[in-house]
Amino acid sequence: MKVVDMHCDTISGIHRQRASGKDVSLLHNDLNIDLEKLKAGDYGLQNFALFVHLGREKKPFEYAMALADTFYTEMEAHADKIGVVRSYADIEKNWSEGRLSALLTIEEGGACEGSLAYLRDFYRLGVRMMSLTWNYANELGWPNVLNLEGSGTMGYVDTEHGLTETGIAFVEEMERLGMIVDVSHLNDAGFWDVVKYGKKPFVASHSNCRALVPGCPRDLTDEMIRAVAERGGVAGINYCIDFLCSPDEWKAGETPVSRVSDIVRHMKHMKNVGGIGCIGLGSDFDGIGGELEMKTAADLPLLEAEMRRQGFAESEIEAVFHGNVLRVYREVLR
Ligand SMILES: [Zn+2]
Repeated sequence: MKVVDMHCDTISGIHRQRASGKDVSLLHNDLNIDLEKLKAGDYGLQNFALFVHLGREKKPFEYAMALADTFYTEMEAHADKIGVVRSYADIEKNWSEGRLSALLTIEEGGACEGSLAYLRDFYRLGVRMMSLTWNYANELGWPNVLNLEGSGTMGYVDTEHGLTETGIAFVEEMERLGMIVDVSHLNDAGFWDVVKYGKKPFVASHSNCRALVPGCPRDLTDEMIRAVAERGGVAGINYCIDFLCSPDEWKAGETPVSRVSDIVRHMKHMKNVGGIGCIGLGSDFDGIGGELEMKTAADLPLLEAEMRRQGFAESEIEAVFHGNVLRVYREVLR
């Protein structure tokens, strides 16, 4: 079954390894995603994020541009196997030529440093989806968790601040350009401002169901899932264990594992709440740690089999694996 995945951090992985002097390639590497694994997993399209860590990078725009160079260097080196898409027609063209498609995204709206000119520059560079925040407050809004790293907490940072004036202007400009608004990592008030000020379908590229993991703000409440569905958007199911299961689901001493059965459990809940049309895939491969039952992109047939086992019809598996996300791309990309 053809896979369309809305989020991975593979470019950061390659960039990091290369910076430490390792000769690493998108064709074959030790990450969750490389071109060989994508082929083995029957992928049709992978979103590649330029992820900017605002706590470490003092020049966010410059850093995102350096990551974009890593992305394009790989795309150019493997142009016979994968092609960057700027429009919906590019996806179909790549497939007719037997190539994978790559869609460029940004994870951290702070990469634009509050500048609509930089946002437009990123659009011109091929960026077609952007999360307004990561785990830091920025010029656009507030995140839904305090920087997770090392804190061991999943506490809410902020429940009252919605998007800033600049954030609202960004939503409007992204929609005008044809860049998809991504609400993953955004706080709840910001989410509702995207619903209020936006008009087009938007996505939560890598977020699950909060009803199944109480207290996990990175996941969506049932009301949010319904709002995504009503706007014609999708939520990409994230394979990260923290967003799939509550810590108390594991016995003492047991190692938590990201299991396909739990991924499908979230799909079932999302289907019950928002309908089959709002579910997509947002693996977060190469951005998540821990034990994974699907260790790499080559293992996606495990998920397909589990969906079938848990009663999803073939047409529903097709919708989740690629149909729903492609519907959003057809509508928002030019
Ligand atoms: Zn993320």
